[in-house]
Amino acid sequence: MANRKRITPFLTMLLLFTTVVTTTAASPPLAGIKVVVDAGHGGWDPGAVGGNGLTEKEINLQVAKALRNCLIEYGGATVEMTRVNDVYLSLASRVKIANESGADRFISIHHNGSVNPNHNGTAVYSATNGSARSHDLRNKVQKRLLQMTGLRDLGANTANFYVLRNTKMPAILTEASFITNPKEEQKLRDPGYLWREAFYIYKGIVDHMGK
Ligand SMILES: [Zn+2]
Repeated sequence: MANRKRITPFLTMLLLFTTVVTTTAASPPLAGIKVVVDAGHGGWDPGAVGGNGLTEKEINLQVAKALRNCLIEYGGATVEMTRVNDVYLSLASRVKIANESGADRFISIHHNGSVNPNHNGTAVYSATNGSARSHDLRNKVQKRLLQMTGLRDLGANTANFYVLRNTKMPAILTEASFITNPKEEQKLRDPGYLWREAFYIYKGIVDHMGK
């Protein structure tokens, strides 16, 4: 009882502080949103391979993990990954994970390949029979990826890819650049470059559905 006089001002201060903190902290842009992030290829399936041996499966995984972190740390989203290691997953099992997750969006991370080593550019795909929301997500992520890569615009396209066609939620597949271009392959060896790619995909997702 003797301490009551000291405790009361302290509680008043604490209450004031709490009020200030709760009114100034904005809720993150993707709070309440669940995203499935799919790193293309893996295990015995390397995907496209650069002239100096860099594999698509490994950079897809790095970008996917960085995207997961951006979505959680900056967006406040919930994220489920189809793979977090160098393992093979069939396209059907990726779709199964997505459709059983109850997620709001599906993002599949890929990089392109060509027999022509000079070829490079940025493209994002949604399903040919996809929803208006999937096309909008695709357009916004493509716009952001172009800002980041500065490469030729190969378009926001539709395609009949299995993971886009069979997922229930709006879904896109990103092909930010060509691993078979030697200059690009060198850039893709830099974890900072891969982080930026992920961050710009994140920004596109926020443009599409952020609060
Ligand atoms: Zn691929």
